[in-house]
Amino acid sequence: MNRILVVEDEPRIASFVGKGLRANGFTPTVVGDGPTGYDYAMTGEFDLVVLDINLPGMDGFEVLRRLRRAGNAIPVIILTARTSTSDTVAGLEGGADDYMPKPFRFEELLARVRLRLRADRAEESTVLAHGDLVLDLRSRRAEVAGRSVDLSAREFTLAETFLRNPGHVLSREQLLSHVWGYDFEPGSNVVDVYVRYLRRKLGAERIETVRGMGYRLTDHG
Ligand code: CA
Repeated sequence: MNRILVVEDEPRIASFVGKGLRANGFTPTVVGDGPTGYDYAMTGEFDLVVLDINLPGMDGFEVLRRLRRAGNAIPVIILTARTSTSDTVAGLEGGADDYMPKPFRFEELLARVRLRLRADRAEESTVLAHGDLVLDLRSRRAEVAGRSVDLSAREFTLAETFLRNPGHVLSREQLLSHVWGYDFEPGSNVVDVYVRYLRRKLGAERIETVRGMGYRLTDHG
């Protein structure tokens, strides 16, 4: 629940939002025009969109309309250039979940992003499963082939990150930002250490090393 698409054509704002999100443990992708924003939002690779209104190619209202028309329910926070309520009303009527009038402080945007992700997550299933590996997010319990396995808080979050991205190669950097945020020493091998712990508990074949790239959850137990 960390992948944020930022559609903003003004480099200064795009960079400000992108850096701020990254520093808070999110994985932002920034694009600068409406059609690219629409295409990216439709990939299913993102958990939330921060969408500017005045954009080249297609404005934010149109991007939003097309997303909703296509049945895409991804949470969208629009950035409105004016404090005038007309953009805001149009945005909310067009299917935006929230809005952020410019100029804004980063903390204000961050609060809205977190709120939206939490609201979205509350409707999500609390059990993640991959093959015979099951994580119950509410009770924080893990099971392998019906047998309960004790995981530390970090191990659980690491396992959860793998189960949310089955088959994807996750780089050390991605895992660090998802699981440890900024609470780690630079150049630390903490990811490798914890992957080793998880392999010991869940089965060595379950997490594959992809040389030079990172780690991937496999179908083998
Ligand atoms: Ca703009």
